[in-house]
Amino acid sequence: MKIGLYPGTFDPLTLGHLDIIRRASFLVDKLVVGVAINNSKLPMFSLEERVNMINEEVGSIENEFGIKIITHPFENLLIECAQDVSANVIIRGLRAVSDFEYEFQMVGMNRVLSSEIETVFLMADNSYQPIASKLVKEIARLGGDTKSFVPNSVQKRLVEIKD
Ligand code: ADP
Repeated sequence: MKIGLYPGTFDPLTLGHLDIIRRASFLVDKLVVGVAINNSKLPMFSLEERVNMINEEVGSIENEFGIKIITHPFENLLIECAQDVSANVIIRGLRAVSDFEYEFQMVGMNRVLSSEIETVFLMADNSYQPIASKLVKEIARLGGDTKSFVPNSVQKRLVEIKD
């Protein structure tokens, strides 16, 4: 059984993330969405809310692909998290050039820490490529409309936080 770990902060979950989750679902039998606790980054949404947003949205992908998708909060090293959930593969999303340098370094260093796990990069559909959680938060804070970037359940929460 192939188990994939898709780690991120998901603050908040975007349509870009969901597109990567859907694409990853073609490749694995079980997908663990690793939600980084990242308190030092002062997330806009609590860990519980970030986990709930993912759980609310992945049900339809689970049904469509007949796979299991679970959320797993983590605070330790990514490689340790992968071992904890018995993942064979780490899934990362790659956007244009901005993600490359960081991801390149992370794969290189993770290989030194553990040679047993491969990282696979997936690209979202062109229409979702520019979406970043950080910008979604900025737009929401300034009162802009984020509905083209996030699922409805997240959009509702962004509006509530703003009000
Ligand atoms: P962000 O970088 O948007 O703050 P995360 O840290 O939660 O989001 O990202 C988790 C993973 O999802 C990373 O591998 C990141 O590159 C990927 N990702 C995020 N948004 C997109 C997108 N629009 N297209 C492709 N991959 C994405």
